[in-house]
Amino acid sequence: MKGKNNSSLLPPIKPLLIVLSGLSGVGKDTVLAGLRKAGFPAYISVSATTRPRRPGEKDGADYYFVSPEKFKTMVNGEELLEWATVYGHRYGIPKEPVRQALKNGKDVIVKIDVQGAATIKKKVPQAVLIFLMTLTMAELEDRLKKRRTETAAELELRLKTAVKELDRIPMFDYVVVNREGKVNQAIADINAIITAEKCRANQRECVV
Ligand code: 5GP
Repeated sequence: MKGKNNSSLLPPIKPLLIVLSGLSGVGKDTVLAGLRKAGFPAYISVSATTRPRRPGEKDGADYYFVSPEKFKTMVNGEELLEWATVYGHRYGIPKEPVRQALKNGKDVIVKIDVQGAATIKKKVPQAVLIFLMTLTMAELEDRLKKRRTETAAELELRLKTAVKELDRIPMFDYVVVNREGKVNQAIADINAIITAEKCRANQRECVV
């Protein structure tokens, strides 16, 4: 056909701010590592925290491990997109890298607790909220025990908090179950969610 126009009929796909939240110990890090390994082209946000480093964790990769004073400076300087005290330590998302990634058209994934997800929903209502959970409480307890990073009292607190957090599920857009030994299914579910979001007729506009 003469004068054929090859320009796309679709508007450019907008980048997403994806919030991966859920119960402590549910496997958020494992799922994220799986997404990274699969070459998922998102910017995965690294939070700042005042929590002490666990064996094997790397500064700048797992978290930015900072002093309480440095964290306060970041809060006062409005450098954090959201921050919260979780189990006695402070955690927050550095805003600038998230803003830059979205500006460059890159999807962003943030890994935060349930109260952090609520804050993001208020600040960025178009963010995609995913809740990751185990199928049973016994599975969650088992995983927390295996990880051996909490004392008995800390473990009890995390399990008690988990029960309350389950009530917040309606705030989320999606729920993904990370079944024992089936992490690849959870990763595939999250990939499917993102694919569906990319196919929306009315795209989300995530502005930070
Ligand atoms: P952990 O100390 O086990 O790495 O993390 C404890 C909890 O803090 C997890 O639920 C984790 O998702 C959450 N968390 C990590 N970074 C942030 C953050 O920047 N903001 C909030 N609100 N929670 C976070």
